[in-house]
Amino acid sequence: MISQVYDLHCHSTTSDGTLSPDELVTRAAERGVTTLALTDHDSISGLEQARICAQKMGIAFINGIEISAQWEKQCLHIVGLNIDPQHEAIENIALNLDKMRNERAEKISQKLAKKGIHGALEFVQKVVGDGMITRTHFANFLVAHCHADTQQQAFDRFLGDGKVAFVSTTWTPFDVAIKSIVDAGGVAVLAHPLRYKLTASRMKKLLAAFKAAGGQAMEVVTGRYNPDEIRILGNYANQFELAGSVGSDFHSPANQWIELGRLASLPAGVKPVWELLA
Ligand code: AMP
Ligand code: MN
Ligand code: MN
Ligand code: MN
Repeated sequence: MISQVYDLHCHSTTSDGTLSPDELVTRAAERGVTTLALTDHDSISGLEQARICAQKMGIAFINGIEISAQWEKQCLHIVGLNIDPQHEAIENIALNLDKMRNERAEKISQKLAKKGIHGALEFVQKVVGDGMITRTHFANFLVAHCHADTQQQAFDRFLGDGKVAFVSTTWTPFDVAIKSIVDAGGVAVLAHPLRYKLTASRMKKLLAAFKAAGGQAMEVVTGRYNPDEIRILGNYANQFELAGSVGSDFHSPANQWIELGRLASLPAGVKPVWELLA
């Protein structure tokens, strides 16, 4: 039996990835991925191109999205797997967040202009085309124009929470994001749970709320976690009876630490999310 390689979280040029959906699927297939989900930020517009390419390359493809959601005051990312991208609830979220992201982009650009940095909006609009504008695009602008040496520095100096060009946003309510994914026939997966830097008690509160709202899985293995973190997340998944997902969160070949399909196995005893996707 050929061993299966799943990668259920990655980005294309439809949001803040640097490869087109075609290039991304081709790279995944070349690196041995047998099932790929494309999960662009708040966008479904790369899915059709990716699916056609996956068919050509002979790998399985899952329609995905990564929704920016609001839980209490926290921005969380919720991955939807196996969604019907034409479902009204998903289309509405994509439309609303596109509008909101465009408005936010204007404000970020104005804040940068007040610091003497001009032309950000024009730059990002040109790069993005009709994809979703994210802070990553602004970070790239700042690096390209020598206001930061790296993306990380652009976040640390300008774009990160509370920094000079930060614009606070109200994202999709947490329960609406989950319900929309479920209504569209998908499985809601809490993305990269350790990225939110929650205390153990707040993490438990989040996982209980996520489950109660209809969430069925959480990411246990991502491109960045070490074995201890994977063990901790596996234990949480079992404790809250959530399935475990596996996804690199690949954005660009320029990040040599993260590669499509280069992921650890799920810990024994964690139910794989793909058992829910059949
Ligand atoms: P947005 O959803 O537009 O607020 O942008 C979020 C994207 O920016 C994330 O998906 C990451 O790819 C990237 N990002 C967020 N925070 C950082 C950070 N501190 N350093 C580098 N990239 C970041
Ligand atoms: Mn991103
Ligand atoms: Mn994310
Ligand atoms: Mn992501």
